[in-house]
Amino acid sequence: MLPRTTPFLPSSGPTPPVAKHYDYVIAGAGCAGLSLAYHLNQTRLRNQSILLIDQVRKETNDRTWSFWEAGDGPFEAVVWRQWSDVHFHGAAFSARLDLSPYRYKMVRGIDFYRFVAEDLRKNPNVSWAHETIVAIEENGSGARVHTEGGVYHADWVFDSTRAPRLDLPHRHNLLQHFKGWEIETPEPVFDPAVATLMDFRIEQKEQARFFYVLPSDPRRALVEFTVFSERLLDPAEYEAELRQYLKNFLRVDRYRVEKEEFGVIPMTDEPLTERASEHVFRIGTAGGYTKPSSGYTFVRIQQRTQAIVRALLDTGQPASRARVFQSRFGWYDSALLNVMQERRYEAREIFTQLFRKNPPATVLRFLDESTTFPQELRIMASVPPRPFLAAVAEVVWKRVRSRVG
Ligand SMILES: Cc1cc2nc3c(=O)[nH]c(=O)nc-3n(C[C@H](O)[C@H](O)[C@H](O)COP(=O)(O)OP(=O)(O)OC[C@H]3O[C@@H](n4cnc5c(N)ncnc54)[C@H](O)[C@@H]3O)c2cc1C
Repeated sequence: MLPRTTPFLPSSGPTPPVAKHYDYVIAGAGCAGLSLAYHLNQTRLRNQSILLIDQVRKETNDRTWSFWEAGDGPFEAVVWRQWSDVHFHGAAFSARLDLSPYRYKMVRGIDFYRFVAEDLRKNPNVSWAHETIVAIEENGSGARVHTEGGVYHADWVFDSTRAPRLDLPHRHNLLQHFKGWEIETPEPVFDPAVATLMDFRIEQKEQARFFYVLPSDPRRALVEFTVFSERLLDPAEYEAELRQYLKNFLRVDRYRVEKEEFGVIPMTDEPLTERASEHVFRIGTAGGYTKPSSGYTFVRIQQRTQAIVRALLDTGQPASRARVFQSRFGWYDSALLNVMQERRYEAREIFTQLFRKNPPATVLRFLDESTTFPQELRIMASVPPRPFLAAVAEVVWKRVRSRVG
């Protein structure tokens, strides 16, 4: 964890280096930092001076984003594959779901990084520093970013480098962890017209465990084993599950692993604030953009960074999120996290009932936080009330106790 609040330079010591000044410093040029820079670059704010700082050059395909979207999104040009139909497999229910008006899309990290870098390269007001950030501090009229190579001053700093602490006892903290293989088979075995959104037919081991399969063509697919739980598994277990799934469910014996992906996404209902201080704004996972109960983040990053740009254009200030992620959905997230953490009801059954009893687009709209309250009541009626009422009672009780104690 970086010592963000401790002054980086002692008051009596060597004279600090002169800080270069920028209108905006974007600390961390991953998904959120690059998205913000891209959205700024599409407006008159492209005339402001912008510095992106990241310790790595984003030159590898370090992750794949999948998400659903109705119509075209801002990064349509780099959508690698998309599907309007997906398979869902519960324990005793399987269906091919038509997601319209949504399409399930896949963006490869490397394509996204290159596309944004190319867009920014045309703007002489955008600079890059490939340096490790060691501290970010408020200094009244703006903020300073200290790296191993220098000091940068900005009117506004947008920080996606800080890892959330996630240790409040009255909140829920699960992890979504996954390992994926991009495989190539000698024979055609995949149907590239249909992806698999969730396949829960594997042993659950009192957790939520599922696979998803994103086929690129009849011989290539990303096959990903995903778990929601408190702790990571032994590395060998992910691989054993992948091998078994390929053999038992996809009936694939011969394949070559072209690429591996491993990731951990926090599933937390801890209130993560965007405004770290007057001029330091947290974005991305650091700013709480990850949907607590599903881990989906990519679309929320686009929604929030576009809202920040709109606020900067209108007021000169990056207004904190107000109603983008609405509070009643925060309660639904907490209840679902509590049900999973306390093992009140099997997550596989919850997702099965949701997709069995509701139109797929309504379920996706609900997960997107854009349903109406009557639609939410119908969705909630798909699952047995008792475990969820118990979960809500505990969520309320824990929060009251944390305020009183
Ligand atoms: C493997 C993986 C797969 C995912 N798949 C999906 C998905 O399919 N759909 C979805 O919606 N979400 C997905 N997510 C979740 C989320 O969308 C991603 O984590 C996303 O990249 C978050 O964006 P971010 O900008 O907050 O963080 P990042 O993209 O991780 O960017 C943070 C940047 O900060 C830099 N940095 C960190 N510390 C420092 C430092 N001290 N100095 C300088 N630079 C620093 C890092 O190098 C990095 O480039 C996935 C996450 C992972 C890890």
